Amino acid sequence: MSKEELECSFCGRKKAETNLLIAGLDAHICDRCIEQAHGIVVEEALHSTNSELSKELMLKKPKAIKSFLDDYIIGQEYTKKVMSVAVYNHYKRLLQPKSDDDIDIQKSNIIVVGQTGTGKTLLAKTVARMLNVPLAIVDATVLTEAGYVGEDVESILTRLLQAADYNVEKAQHGIVFIDEIDKIARKSDNPSITRDVSGEGVQQALLKLLEGTTVNVPPKGGRKHPDQKFIEVNTENILFIAGGAFDGIDRHISKRLNMQAVGFSASKSEDTLDRENLLRYIIPKDLKDFGLIPEIIGRLPVLSYMNPLDRGTLRAILTEPKNAIIKQYHKLFEMDEIDFVITEEALAFIVDQAIEYKLGARGLRSLCEAILTDAMFELPGTEEKKLKVTREYAEQKLNKSTIKKLKAVS
Ligand code: ADP
Repeated sequence: MSKEELECSFCGRKKAETNLLIAGLDAHICDRCIEQAHGIVVEEALHSTNSELSKELMLKKPKAIKSFLDDYIIGQEYTKKVMSVAVYNHYKRLLQPKSDDDIDIQKSNIIVVGQTGTGKTLLAKTVARMLNVPLAIVDATVLTEAGYVGEDVESILTRLLQAADYNVEKAQHGIVFIDEIDKIARKSDNPSITRDVSGEGVQQALLKLLEGTTVNVPPKGGRKHPDQKFIEVNTENILFIAGGAFDGIDRHISKRLNMQAVGFSASKSEDTLDRENLLRYIIPKDLKDFGLIPEIIGRLPVLSYMNPLDRGTLRAILTEPKNAIIKQYHKLFEMDEIDFVITEEALAFIVDQAIEYKLGARGLRSLCEAILTDAMFELPGTEEKKLKVTREYAEQKLNKSTIKKLKAVS
Protein backbone atom coordinates (compact mmCIF):
# COMPACT_ATOMS: atom_id res chain seq x y z
CA MET A 1 0.00 0.00 0.00
CA SER A 2 1.42 3.37 -0.93
CA LYS A 3 1.70 6.07 1.66
CA GLU A 4 -1.12 8.04 0.08
CA GLU A 5 -3.54 5.13 0.35
CA LEU A 6 -3.18 4.73 4.10
CA GLU A 7 -6.35 5.42 6.02
CA CYS A 8 -7.60 5.68 9.55
CA SER A 9 -8.83 2.28 10.67
CA PHE A 10 -11.49 3.94 12.82
CA CYS A 11 -13.16 6.52 10.59
CA GLY A 12 -11.77 5.53 7.21
CA ARG A 13 -10.38 8.99 6.36
CA LYS A 14 -7.52 8.92 3.91
CA LYS A 15 -4.14 10.09 5.10
CA ALA A 16 -4.46 13.22 2.98
CA GLU A 17 -7.63 14.16 4.80
CA THR A 18 -6.02 14.00 8.21
CA ASN A 19 -3.51 16.20 9.97
CA LEU A 20 -1.78 13.22 11.45
CA LEU A 21 -2.07 9.48 11.01
CA ILE A 22 -0.40 7.31 13.60
CA ALA A 23 0.54 3.74 12.78
CA GLY A 24 -0.05 0.85 15.16
CA LEU A 25 0.68 -2.85 14.60
CA ASP A 26 -2.08 -3.54 12.09
CA ALA A 27 -3.98 -0.32 12.12
CA HIS A 28 -3.82 3.44 11.89
CA ILE A 29 -5.53 6.16 13.81
CA CYS A 30 -6.03 9.79 12.82
CA ASP A 31 -5.81 12.88 14.99
CA ARG A 32 -9.57 13.37 15.05
CA CYS A 33 -10.24 9.85 16.28
CA ILE A 34 -7.56 10.25 18.93
CA GLU A 35 -9.27 13.37 20.17
CA GLN A 36 -12.66 11.68 20.22
CA ALA A 37 -11.30 8.64 21.98
CA HIS A 38 -9.58 10.85 24.51
CA GLY A 39 -12.90 12.55 25.19
CA ILE A 40 -14.48 9.17 25.86
CA VAL A 41 -11.66 8.16 28.20
CA VAL A 42 -11.96 11.39 30.19
CA GLU A 43 -15.73 11.09 30.35
CA GLU A 44 -15.49 7.51 31.55
CA ALA A 45 -12.86 8.35 34.15
CA LEU A 46 -15.01 11.15 35.46
CA HIS A 47 -17.99 8.89 35.60
CA SER A 48 -16.23 6.11 37.44
CA THR A 49 -14.57 8.52 39.88
CA ASN A 50 -17.96 9.98 40.56
CA SER A 51 -19.56 6.68 41.24
CA GLU A 52 -16.60 5.61 43.34
CA LEU A 53 -16.87 8.86 45.17
CA SER A 54 -20.56 8.44 45.67
CA LYS A 55 -20.04 4.95 47.02
CA GLU A 56 -17.45 6.12 49.48
CA LEU A 57 -18.89 9.45 50.41
CA MET A 58 -22.60 9.23 50.32
CA LEU A 59 -22.49 6.47 52.86
CA LYS A 60 -21.07 8.91 55.36
CA LYS A 61 -23.76 11.11 56.77
CA PRO A 62 -22.78 14.12 58.89
CA LYS A 63 -23.21 12.13 62.09
CA ALA A 64 -20.92 9.42 60.81
CA ILE A 65 -18.35 12.03 59.80
CA LYS A 66 -18.55 13.61 63.24
CA SER A 67 -18.15 10.29 64.97
CA PHE A 68 -15.04 9.57 62.88
CA LEU A 69 -13.66 12.97 63.92
CA ASP A 70 -14.50 12.14 67.56
CA ASP A 71 -12.12 9.20 67.39
CA TYR A 72 -9.18 11.48 66.72
CA ILE A 73 -10.05 14.93 68.02
CA ILE A 74 -10.85 15.67 71.63
CA GLY A 75 -13.45 18.34 72.37
CA GLN A 76 -14.06 21.08 69.76
CA GLU A 77 -17.64 19.83 69.48
CA TYR A 78 -18.94 22.88 67.66
CA THR A 79 -16.29 22.86 64.95
CA LYS A 80 -16.54 19.11 64.46
CA LYS A 81 -20.27 19.47 63.89
CA VAL A 82 -19.95 22.45 61.55
CA MET A 83 -17.16 20.71 59.66
CA SER A 84 -19.17 17.49 59.28
CA VAL A 85 -22.05 19.35 57.71
CA ALA A 86 -19.79 21.44 55.48
CA VAL A 87 -17.89 18.41 54.23
CA TYR A 88 -21.09 16.48 53.65
CA ASN A 89 -22.61 19.36 51.70
CA HIS A 90 -19.43 19.85 49.74
CA TYR A 91 -19.42 16.30 48.49
CA LYS A 92 -23.16 16.35 47.93
CA ARG A 93 -22.61 19.34 45.71
CA LEU A 94 -19.93 17.44 43.91
CA LEU A 95 -22.20 14.51 43.24
CA GLN A 96 -25.30 16.49 42.36
CA PRO A 97 -26.74 15.32 39.08
CA LYS A 98 -26.95 18.01 36.44
CA SER A 99 -30.46 19.35 36.71
CA ASP A 100 -32.60 21.87 34.93
CA ASP A 101 -33.52 23.91 37.94
CA ASP A 102 -31.24 26.85 38.51
CA ILE A 103 -30.29 25.83 41.99
CA ASP A 104 -26.57 25.72 42.07
CA ILE A 105 -25.17 24.52 45.36
CA GLN A 106 -22.35 26.86 46.33
CA LYS A 107 -19.04 25.75 47.71
CA SER A 108 -18.80 25.35 51.44
CA ASN A 109 -15.21 26.38 52.04
CA ILE A 110 -14.43 26.67 55.73
CA ILE A 111 -12.50 29.08 57.93
CA VAL A 112 -11.53 28.05 61.45
CA VAL A 113 -10.25 30.56 63.97
CA GLY A 114 -8.31 29.39 67.00
CA GLN A 115 -5.00 29.52 68.83
CA THR A 116 -2.15 27.44 67.44
CA GLY A 117 -1.99 23.88 68.64
CA THR A 118 -5.73 23.51 69.19
CA GLY A 119 -6.17 20.98 66.40
CA LYS A 120 -7.01 22.93 63.23
CA THR A 121 -4.52 21.05 61.08
CA LEU A 122 -5.46 17.80 62.76
CA LEU A 123 -9.08 18.38 61.77
CA ALA A 124 -8.20 18.92 58.12
CA LYS A 125 -5.92 15.88 58.16
CA THR A 126 -8.59 13.71 59.73
CA VAL A 127 -11.26 14.77 57.25
CA ALA A 128 -8.92 14.03 54.34
CA ARG A 129 -8.03 10.67 55.80
CA MET A 130 -11.65 9.74 56.26
CA LEU A 131 -12.58 10.69 52.72
CA ASN A 132 -9.43 9.20 51.32
CA VAL A 133 -8.74 12.30 49.26
CA PRO A 134 -5.40 14.06 48.81
CA LEU A 135 -4.58 16.88 51.21
CA ALA A 136 -2.19 19.77 50.79
CA ILE A 137 -1.21 21.79 53.82
CA VAL A 138 0.14 25.20 52.92
CA ASP A 139 1.30 28.13 54.91
CA ALA A 140 -0.17 31.42 53.79
CA THR A 141 2.89 33.29 55.06
CA VAL A 142 5.06 32.06 52.18
CA LEU A 143 2.63 33.30 49.55
CA THR A 144 3.23 36.58 47.80
CA GLU A 145 1.73 38.36 44.88
CA ALA A 146 2.92 37.05 41.53
CA GLY A 147 6.26 38.54 40.61
CA TYR A 148 7.57 39.01 44.14
CA VAL A 149 9.96 36.91 46.17
CA GLY A 150 8.00 34.06 47.71
CA GLU A 151 5.55 31.60 46.24
CA ASP A 152 2.69 32.27 43.85
CA VAL A 153 -0.69 31.05 45.00
CA GLU A 154 -0.55 28.42 42.24
CA SER A 155 2.08 26.63 44.32
CA ILE A 156 -0.80 25.53 46.55
CA LEU A 157 -2.07 23.40 43.70
CA THR A 158 1.40 22.05 42.97
CA ARG A 159 1.38 20.66 46.50
CA LEU A 160 -2.04 19.16 45.99
CA LEU A 161 -0.94 17.54 42.73
CA GLN A 162 2.06 16.08 44.51
CA ALA A 163 -0.18 14.75 47.28
CA ALA A 164 -2.34 13.13 44.59
CA ASP A 165 0.66 11.57 42.83
CA TYR A 166 -0.08 13.86 39.88
CA ASN A 167 -3.49 12.30 39.37
CA VAL A 168 -5.31 15.47 38.28
CA GLU A 169 -8.75 13.97 38.73
CA LYS A 170 -7.96 13.04 42.33
CA ALA A 171 -6.38 16.40 43.03
CA GLN A 172 -9.51 18.11 41.79
CA HIS A 173 -11.49 16.43 44.56
CA GLY A 174 -8.90 17.06 47.22
CA ILE A 175 -8.69 19.28 50.25
CA VAL A 176 -6.39 22.26 50.73
CA PHE A 177 -5.65 23.47 54.22
CA ILE A 178 -4.34 27.03 54.23
CA ASP A 179 -2.72 27.68 57.57
CA GLU A 180 -2.05 31.11 59.03
CA ILE A 181 -4.58 32.83 56.81
CA ASP A 182 -4.59 35.64 59.37
CA LYS A 183 -1.05 36.55 58.34
CA ILE A 184 -2.23 37.80 54.97
CA ALA A 185 -4.67 40.22 56.52
CA ARG A 186 -4.32 43.77 55.33
CA LYS A 187 -1.64 45.31 57.48
CA SER A 188 -3.15 48.72 57.67
CA ASP A 189 -6.15 50.70 56.63
CA ASN A 190 -3.90 53.17 54.94
CA PRO A 191 -3.37 52.07 51.34
CA SER A 192 -0.58 54.57 50.76
CA ILE A 193 1.90 52.66 52.90
CA THR A 194 4.44 50.63 50.90
CA ARG A 195 2.99 48.00 48.67
CA ASP A 196 1.36 45.17 50.51
CA VAL A 197 2.68 42.24 48.47
CA SER A 198 2.07 39.56 51.05
CA GLY A 199 -1.24 40.83 52.30
CA GLU A 200 -4.13 42.10 50.29
CA GLY A 201 -2.46 41.16 47.00
CA VAL A 202 -2.35 37.53 48.07
CA GLN A 203 -5.94 37.67 49.20
CA GLN A 204 -6.89 38.90 45.75
CA ALA A 205 -4.92 36.09 44.12
CA LEU A 206 -6.54 33.51 46.37
CA LEU A 207 -10.06 34.63 45.50
CA LYS A 208 -10.19 32.85 42.19
CA LEU A 209 -8.82 29.60 43.56
CA LEU A 210 -11.38 29.56 46.34
CA GLU A 211 -14.24 30.22 44.03
CA GLY A 212 -13.41 27.71 41.36
CA THR A 213 -11.38 28.30 38.26
CA THR A 214 -9.00 26.54 35.94
CA VAL A 215 -5.40 27.22 36.80
CA ASN A 216 -2.19 26.43 34.94
CA VAL A 217 -0.07 24.78 37.56
CA PRO A 218 3.68 24.32 37.27
CA PRO A 219 4.00 20.62 38.17
CA LYS A 220 7.28 21.03 39.99
CA GLY A 221 6.42 24.31 41.60
CA GLY A 222 8.65 27.33 41.44
CA ARG A 223 8.15 30.32 39.25
CA LYS A 224 6.25 30.15 36.03
CA HIS A 225 8.56 30.47 33.11
CA PRO A 226 7.72 30.35 29.43
CA ASP A 227 9.01 26.92 28.50
CA GLN A 228 7.70 25.05 31.47
CA LYS A 229 4.81 22.69 30.81
CA PHE A 230 1.73 23.27 32.93
CA ILE A 231 -0.93 20.98 34.24
CA GLU A 232 -4.46 22.35 34.15
CA VAL A 233 -6.24 22.03 37.45
CA ASN A 234 -9.84 23.02 38.04
CA THR A 235 -10.45 24.15 41.60
CA GLU A 236 -14.24 24.02 41.48
CA ASN A 237 -14.51 20.85 43.53
CA ILE A 238 -11.55 21.37 45.81
CA LEU A 239 -12.55 21.98 49.40
CA PHE A 240 -10.57 24.78 51.00
CA ILE A 241 -10.18 24.94 54.75
CA ALA A 242 -8.44 28.01 56.11
CA GLY A 243 -7.13 28.31 59.63
CA GLY A 244 -5.55 31.03 61.68
CA ALA A 245 -4.95 32.23 65.22
CA PHE A 246 -6.12 35.79 64.51
CA ASP A 247 -4.28 37.11 67.54
CA GLY A 248 -6.08 40.12 68.90
CA ILE A 249 -9.38 39.46 67.16
CA ASP A 250 -11.00 39.15 70.58
CA ARG A 251 -10.62 42.91 70.89
CA HIS A 252 -12.80 43.38 67.82
CA ILE A 253 -15.31 40.86 69.13
CA SER A 254 -15.40 42.41 72.56
CA LYS A 255 -15.82 45.89 71.13
CA ARG A 256 -18.69 44.74 68.96
CA LEU A 257 -20.36 42.89 71.82
CA ASN A 258 -20.08 45.90 74.10
CA MET A 259 -21.57 48.13 71.47
CA GLN A 260 -24.43 45.74 71.04
CA ALA A 261 -24.93 45.65 74.76
CA VAL A 262 -25.17 49.42 74.87
CA GLY A 263 -27.36 49.58 71.80
CA PHE A 264 -29.92 47.21 73.19
CA SER A 265 -30.39 46.65 76.85
CA ALA A 266 -27.26 46.96 78.93
CA SER A 267 -28.22 43.95 80.95
CA LYS A 268 -28.11 41.83 77.83
CA SER A 269 -26.41 38.57 78.65
CA GLU A 270 -23.45 40.49 80.10
CA ASP A 271 -23.19 37.96 82.88
CA THR A 272 -23.59 34.96 80.60
CA LEU A 273 -20.88 36.13 78.19
CA ASP A 274 -17.95 33.76 78.18
CA ARG A 275 -15.20 36.36 78.59
CA GLU A 276 -12.49 33.70 78.60
CA ASN A 277 -13.38 32.53 75.15
CA LEU A 278 -14.72 35.40 73.11
CA LEU A 279 -13.94 33.53 69.89
CA ARG A 280 -17.18 31.63 70.23
CA TYR A 281 -19.04 34.84 69.39
CA ILE A 282 -17.11 35.43 66.21
CA ILE A 283 -18.98 36.59 63.11
CA PRO A 284 -17.69 37.39 59.60
CA LYS A 285 -17.59 41.12 60.35
CA ASP A 286 -14.85 40.50 62.93
CA LEU A 287 -12.70 38.92 60.22
CA LYS A 288 -13.25 42.01 58.09
CA ASP A 289 -12.27 44.30 60.95
CA PHE A 290 -9.15 42.19 61.38
CA GLY A 291 -8.14 42.84 57.77
CA LEU A 292 -9.53 40.10 55.55
CA ILE A 293 -11.17 41.51 52.47
CA PRO A 294 -14.94 40.95 52.21
CA GLU A 295 -14.58 38.92 49.01
CA ILE A 296 -12.35 36.36 50.75
CA ILE A 297 -14.73 36.15 53.67
CA GLY A 298 -17.57 35.57 51.22
CA ARG A 299 -15.74 32.65 49.69
CA LEU A 300 -15.12 31.04 53.06
CA PRO A 301 -18.77 30.98 54.08
CA VAL A 302 -18.48 28.44 56.89
CA LEU A 303 -16.96 30.12 59.94
CA SER A 304 -16.02 28.25 63.09
CA TYR A 305 -13.71 28.52 66.09
CA MET A 306 -11.53 26.30 68.25
CA ASN A 307 -11.67 26.37 72.04
CA PRO A 308 -8.43 26.83 73.94
CA LEU A 309 -7.17 23.53 75.36
CA ASP A 310 -7.73 23.26 79.09
CA ARG A 311 -6.11 20.84 81.47
CA GLY A 312 -8.80 18.18 81.03
CA THR A 313 -8.53 18.29 77.24
CA LEU A 314 -4.75 18.02 77.33
CA ARG A 315 -5.00 15.06 79.66
CA ALA A 316 -7.52 13.39 77.33
CA ILE A 317 -5.35 14.06 74.27
CA LEU A 318 -2.56 12.02 75.88
CA THR A 319 -4.55 8.80 76.00
CA GLU A 320 -7.95 8.99 74.33
CA PRO A 321 -7.67 9.59 70.58
CA LYS A 322 -7.37 6.48 68.44
CA ASN A 323 -3.71 7.17 67.85
CA ALA A 324 -3.06 8.92 71.15
CA ILE A 325 0.57 9.61 72.00
CA ILE A 326 0.62 7.23 74.97
CA LYS A 327 -0.94 4.47 72.84
CA GLN A 328 1.86 4.95 70.36
CA TYR A 329 4.50 4.47 73.06
CA HIS A 330 2.68 1.36 74.23
CA LYS A 331 2.96 -0.04 70.78
CA LEU A 332 6.62 0.88 70.45
CA PHE A 333 7.52 -0.82 73.72
CA GLU A 334 5.30 -3.78 72.97
CA MET A 335 7.39 -4.49 69.90
CA ASP A 336 10.27 -5.14 72.29
CA GLU A 337 7.93 -7.10 74.56
CA ILE A 338 8.21 -4.43 77.19
CA ASP A 339 5.18 -3.76 79.33
CA PHE A 340 4.85 0.02 79.53
CA VAL A 341 2.85 1.54 82.36
CA ILE A 342 2.45 5.21 83.15
CA THR A 343 0.73 6.40 86.30
CA GLU A 344 -2.06 8.93 86.45
CA GLU A 345 0.22 11.24 88.47
CA ALA A 346 2.86 11.10 85.77
CA LEU A 347 0.27 12.01 83.14
CA ALA A 348 -0.95 14.91 85.28
CA PHE A 349 2.65 16.04 85.64
CA ILE A 350 3.12 16.04 81.85
CA VAL A 351 -0.04 18.11 81.43
CA ASP A 352 1.15 20.59 84.07
CA GLN A 353 4.45 20.97 82.29
CA ALA A 354 2.79 21.49 78.91
CA ILE A 355 0.75 24.28 80.45
CA GLU A 356 3.69 25.77 82.29
CA TYR A 357 5.91 25.77 79.21
CA LYS A 358 2.97 27.16 77.19
CA LEU A 359 3.51 24.39 74.69
CA GLY A 360 -0.11 23.35 74.28
CA ALA A 361 -0.92 19.99 72.80
CA ARG A 362 2.10 20.14 70.58
CA GLY A 363 4.30 20.10 73.67
CA LEU A 364 2.87 16.84 74.96
CA ARG A 365 4.78 14.87 72.40
CA SER A 366 8.14 16.55 73.08
CA LEU A 367 7.64 16.13 76.81
CA CYS A 368 6.91 12.42 76.43
CA GLU A 369 9.89 12.06 74.14
CA ALA A 370 12.16 13.76 76.69
CA ILE A 371 10.89 11.50 79.45
CA LEU A 372 11.03 8.23 77.54
CA THR A 373 14.11 8.52 75.34
CA ASP A 374 16.45 7.00 77.93
CA ALA A 375 14.19 3.98 78.36
CA MET A 376 13.73 3.58 74.62
CA PHE A 377 17.49 3.59 74.27
CA GLU A 378 18.41 1.39 77.21
CA LEU A 379 15.71 -1.24 77.48
CA PRO A 380 15.52 -2.98 74.10
CA GLY A 381 17.66 -6.10 74.08
CA THR A 382 17.93 -6.35 77.86
CA GLU A 383 16.16 -8.64 80.34
CA GLU A 384 14.08 -5.76 81.64
CA LYS A 385 10.54 -6.32 80.41
CA LYS A 386 8.68 -3.71 82.40
CA LEU A 387 8.78 0.06 82.44
CA LYS A 388 6.76 1.93 85.00
CA VAL A 389 6.76 5.70 84.62
CA THR A 390 5.85 7.44 87.86
CA ARG A 391 5.74 11.13 88.52
CA GLU A 392 9.19 10.98 90.14
CA TYR A 393 10.61 9.13 87.15
CA ALA A 394 9.11 11.68 84.73
CA GLU A 395 10.36 14.60 86.80
CA GLN A 396 13.85 13.21 87.04
CA LYS A 397 14.13 12.54 83.29
CA LEU A 398 12.75 15.92 82.43
CA ASN A 399 15.13 17.72 84.76
CA LYS A 400 18.14 16.46 82.90
CA SER A 401 16.69 16.99 79.45
CA THR A 402 17.28 19.93 77.16
CA ILE A 403 13.56 20.66 77.06
CA LYS A 404 14.08 22.54 80.32
CA LYS A 405 15.81 25.20 78.30
CA LEU A 406 12.59 25.90 76.46
CA LYS A 407 11.25 27.41 79.58
CA ALA A 408 13.96 30.02 79.58
CA VAL A 409 13.08 30.96 76.04
CA SER A 410 9.32 31.20 76.36
P1 ADP B 1 -3.12 23.91 64.87
O1 ADP B 1 -3.24 23.54 63.43
O2 ADP B 1 -4.41 24.43 65.45
O3 ADP B 1 -1.98 24.80 65.18
P2 ADP B 1 -2.50 21.14 65.21
O4 ADP B 1 -3.66 20.50 64.57
O5 ADP B 1 -1.24 21.19 64.42
O6 ADP B 1 -2.87 22.59 65.71
O7 ADP B 1 -2.24 20.44 66.61
C1 ADP B 1 -0.97 20.04 67.03
C2 ADP B 1 -1.02 18.67 67.65
O8 ADP B 1 -1.69 18.74 68.88
C3 ADP B 1 -1.79 17.67 66.83
O9 ADP B 1 -0.98 16.92 66.00
C4 ADP B 1 -2.39 16.75 67.89
O10 ADP B 1 -1.48 15.75 68.25
C5 ADP B 1 -2.56 17.63 69.07
N1 ADP B 1 -3.92 18.14 69.25
C6 ADP B 1 -4.28 19.44 69.25
N2 ADP B 1 -5.58 19.59 69.50
C7 ADP B 1 -6.08 18.35 69.63
C8 ADP B 1 -7.40 17.85 69.91
N3 ADP B 1 -8.44 18.66 70.08
N4 ADP B 1 -7.54 16.51 70.00
C9 ADP B 1 -6.49 15.69 69.83
N5 ADP B 1 -5.24 16.10 69.58
C10 ADP B 1 -5.02 17.41 69.49
